[in-house]
Amino acid sequence: MTTRIRKAFLPFSPPDIGNEEIDAVVEALRSGWITTGPRTHAFEEEFASYTGANHALALASGTAAIHCALKAFGVGEGDVVVVPTMTFSSAAHTVEHVGARPVFVDAEADTLNPDPDRVAAAALDRNVRCVLPVHLYGHPCDDAIFDLGAPVVDDAAHALPARTDGRLVGGSRRDRVLTAFSFYATKNITTGEGGMLTGPEDLVEEARTWSLHGMTKDAIGRYEAGGSWRYDVTRAGFKYNMSDIQAALGLVQLRRLPEMHRRRTEIAHRYNSGLEGAEEIELPHVRGGVEHAWHIYAIRLHLDRLAVGRDRFIDELRERGIGTSVHFIPIHLLAYYRDKYALRPDDFPVATREFERLVSLPIYPAMTDEDTDDVIEAVADVSAKHRR
Ligand SMILES: *Cc1c(COP(=O)(O)O)cnc(C)c1O
Repeated sequence: MTTRIRKAFLPFSPPDIGNEEIDAVVEALRSGWITTGPRTHAFEEEFASYTGANHALALASGTAAIHCALKAFGVGEGDVVVVPTMTFSSAAHTVEHVGARPVFVDAEADTLNPDPDRVAAAALDRNVRCVLPVHLYGHPCDDAIFDLGAPVVDDAAHALPARTDGRLVGGSRRDRVLTAFSFYATKNITTGEGGMLTGPEDLVEEARTWSLHGMTKDAIGRYEAGGSWRYDVTRAGFKYNMSDIQAALGLVQLRRLPEMHRRRTEIAHRYNSGLEGAEEIELPHVRGGVEHAWHIYAIRLHLDRLAVGRDRFIDELRERGIGTSVHFIPIHLLAYYRDKYALRPDDFPVATREFERLVSLPIYPAMTDEDTDDVIEAVADVSAKHRR
């Protein structure tokens, strides 16, 4: 088989920004109000209404949302937080930032989400103040994690829009769950940089105070006609607010989300049928009763059927014009956490093993069917070339 080499490199995950977004940002810039203001508040309201959440707080990043959620739950010195090893490291960093200790748990083999039995076992430690699950790649994690009795900071950076039994992640209306979304450039909707926290009103308002200097009013309340100059500071808070420039972008992206998600799902299905026959490839697992957000489409290589490793496989895809990535290097393998907590690869056998064979393929709304077929063809070609 000879493979056509693409003329143009297919990037892994470019943002999907159109004229509507550009016009909305220009309008915000011309409006006379560029920091947190009417557009940010509208974005919060539309986001809460879309997800079905009680309340929403727009922030500077997904990491800021997780950080403020931990503060809102009062997590601090001496506390333990249960964190999956198979996630992005910023979730663990925020636990360090509040002075608590992350205890890492391994993944379940099919979805690579945090293993609910391991989370439950870890949560038995009486110092555990909170669990911090992730919905890896956009596949909702096991619901049992929300019923352990511990407060949950739910990392939904990949999970917009993901559903369990028809319910959107982030719209649960459970008492002690705060859900953090990310609008980083590669995420399912983007504001360049940004994030959102959803949950019960009292906790979200507590997070809001933490997010803006510990101040009791935000700028629009202070500077609008009728606003007062007087405010109080009740704690040493952060500077994590979202600007109206970002929110202008977010409002358009949120309205486009259903259409963008439909296209991601089509691409995932095209990959599934195109790669089904490739014996060197394991396809993503999707459980029953679940709607996948398809933020990441991660295949796994059957390394015993290939004469090359994952890294070489990725290099050869790049030579064929295909950009890929790996999600994630498990946190227990990263120097800071490995050394600080004396973590060993064998402590997390599933994540350690699966990491070696992960490849994330490009998936984003602007990809055409031809782009998708180029990826399928390149994966099939590299697999065939190195078949054992
Ligand atoms: C992107 C991401 C974050 C952090 O989001 P930022 O907006 O970049 O701070 C957290 N967790 C996971 C799993 C992510 O993919």
